[in-house]
Amino acid sequence: MKTSIIHIQDLNEKVLKKLDQQHIPIAFPTETVYGLGAPYDNEATIFNVFVLKGRPLNNPLIVHVASHEMILPLVKDMHEDAKRLMTHFFPGPLTLIMKKSDQVTSLVTAGQNTVGIRMPNHSIALELIKKIGKPMVAPSANISGKPSGTTALDVYEDFQGKIPYIIEGETSEVGIESTIIDTTREPFVILRPGAITKEMIEKVLKKPLASTINNDVVAPGMIHPHYEPDHPLYILRGDDAHIINYVNQKKDALFIGHERFLPFIDIQKRSLGHDTHEMLRFLYHVLRQSNHLDIKEIYTHDVDHEGYMNRLLKASKNQIIDV
Ligand code: AMP
Ligand code: MG
Repeated sequence: MKTSIIHIQDLNEKVLKKLDQQHIPIAFPTETVYGLGAPYDNEATIFNVFVLKGRPLNNPLIVHVASHEMILPLVKDMHEDAKRLMTHFFPGPLTLIMKKSDQVTSLVTAGQNTVGIRMPNHSIALELIKKIGKPMVAPSANISGKPSGTTALDVYEDFQGKIPYIIEGETSEVGIESTIIDTTREPFVILRPGAITKEMIEKVLKKPLASTINNDVVAPGMIHPHYEPDHPLYILRGDDAHIINYVNQKKDALFIGHERFLPFIDIQKRSLGHDTHEMLRFLYHVLRQSNHLDIKEIYTHDVDHEGYMNRLLKASKNQIIDV
């Protein structure tokens, strides 16, 4: 199968009909990461999403909507505070877990009575959902376990020959997956940290969230391996000078990190940017690029951001070195 990177305008009636009838998922950009999408009620296409990604069926999918009207038929018993979060953060990198209605199949929710809903803040994603005419499930467009795709070429690398179309867009602005909040618990709890932080949410709700994820409140799917580069990744913790000194003694290694380190690093290196926003945005892309380098290991440093560290710790299999 030939895989084409197409423009959203190329998605005419004929192409849409083919996708629908042949149960073909389509990859598209969102502001968090690229998604591999299927209509929320087309079980055959959704099943193909799981198969193409190699995603375990017990890992539920998030349903993406293009308007507030699309949400109501999907959920039951919406909490007033959930509405407040939607007013404030939709469209944006936030997923709300709510009680599901009968319209949402258990293939989407991995058998649970709740569903995750998000409205992407991306004109192409919103246009696609409107063209399809219904909400879409869209897990990240990558083979399960690898860093998520944040550019059309990242997606091409994973799905070349496996899907016919990838919709073109810029590098995803946020770069990591949405913050997930369970609104069926009292108080609400963050199941997955992201660019929208606990503080930002508490400011809107004017009350505290439950103290973060403990072992019995883990979002399903968070236990599977995630975001791993091909080479072992180590997180260095300590003063900048100690980190630089440690890294410079390494051979056949790559350093990735904040721009401030780079002038002092003597081994192979890649910048992750000048601030936390850029580091979130470029982390996955740089991890994916490291797979093509002739190296034995990768070193980086910790960063004071919960969402960033959540991904970095998984990518490194929790390998931290105090220096
Ligand atoms: P992604 O892989 O980025 O599409 O995000 C899917 C993740 O959202 C899953 O791995 C779960 O952690 C979480 N999720 C989706 N639906 C639910 C749900 N109904 N209850 C709890 N977590 C969910
Ligand atoms: Mg994913």
